[in-house]
Amino acid sequence: MKVVVNQDACIGCGACTYTCEEVFEMDEKGLSTCKLKGEIPVELEQSVKDAMDACPTGAIVLADGETEEPLAEAA
Ligand code: SF4
Repeated sequence: MKVVVNQDACIGCGACTYTCEEVFEMDEKGLSTCKLKGEIPVELEQSVKDAMDACPTGAIVLADGETEEPLAEAA
């Protein structure tokens, strides 16, 4: 999974950085940014999901699709 922070929705509360400091950090504007640009390591996925749940504005979104588990292609 990959995630991005929609800074238009972020209110800078810091919940995501508190929940998952390995992935999220506050930038110079006081808004969260995802410091991992690529695939989230498997061991951090749960922490990232917790951060998504903790975000009061839904600003953390999946970068590569609308669902966490894409449907398998039909054979
Ligand atoms: S939890 Fe959401 S609103 Fe709060 S800093 Fe993180 S992205 Fe922004």
